[in-house]
Amino acid sequence: MQNDPLSHGLWETTAPPAPPTSPLNGRIRADVAVVGCGYTGLSAALRLAESGAKVVALEAVEIGFGGAGRNVGLVNAGMWVMPREFPKALGADYGERALTLLGDAPGLVWETIAKHAIDCDPVRNGTLQCAVGASGLAEIEERARQWGERGAPVRVLTAAEAAKRIGSVAYAGALLDQRAGTIQ
Ligand SMILES: Cc1cc2nc3c(=O)[nH]c(=O)nc-3n(C[C@H](O)[C@H](O)[C@H](O)COP(=O)(O)OP(=O)(O)OC[C@H]3O[C@@H](n4cnc5c(N)ncnc54)[C@H](O)[C@@H]3O)c2cc1C
Repeated sequence: MQNDPLSHGLWETTAPPAPPTSPLNGRIRADVAVVGCGYTGLSAALRLAESGAKVVALEAVEIGFGGAGRNVGLVNAGMWVMPREFPKALGADYGERALTLLGDAPGLVWETIAKHAIDCDPVRNGTLQCAVGASGLAEIEERARQWGERGAPVRVLTAAEAAKRIGSVAYAGALLDQRAGTIQ
């Protein structure tokens, strides 16, 4: 724990203690050495270990020192890019694979949390992308249409429905994505 309010702040002080780790002294043999213990490194290390590999995960400071320990905790499906842009940018095959991967990503996160009983306050009640003005509303409507074509559980809330959930009447509507949620 860094105890630095300017870095991890709230996240660090409200998280359960990290598992004990020890410094690497001397030599160690492994099938795979993973360098960096954020989401990417730990997830890779976990999957490799589950498949029988002997894995050593090395971290320069402490687990979650990077972006993984300082972010907003949103478990999102997709990106800011519109779904139909993926095949245009990546080609039909890779575009489709990327969209499937992104759409399924929150499911994988919830499964991993459940399987390993990870203590991270998971809440899967969807996330809201709030629309500012008419152009913002048009954008989330288009996004809902494009994800809807793929069978994703997303829908546009009216301004009144959004206000009820957000507590502010500032938005023209909101896109509710029920695949998503939050973690600590
Ligand atoms: C302010 C902010 C808000 C964000 N909000 C969200 C969000 O709500 N939802 C979301 O999905 N994403 C969010 N992100 C993005 C997300 O945090 C990153 O995509 C994610 O943390 C990347 O994980 P990572 O494991 O690749 O890298 P990191 O989490 O940065 O981990 C890299 C690790 O490698 C270690 N390291 C580096 N060099 C070495 C070395 N030479 N030897 C050993 N260890 C080393 C570092 O210390 C660090 O612990 C946000 C990012 C920021 C900055």
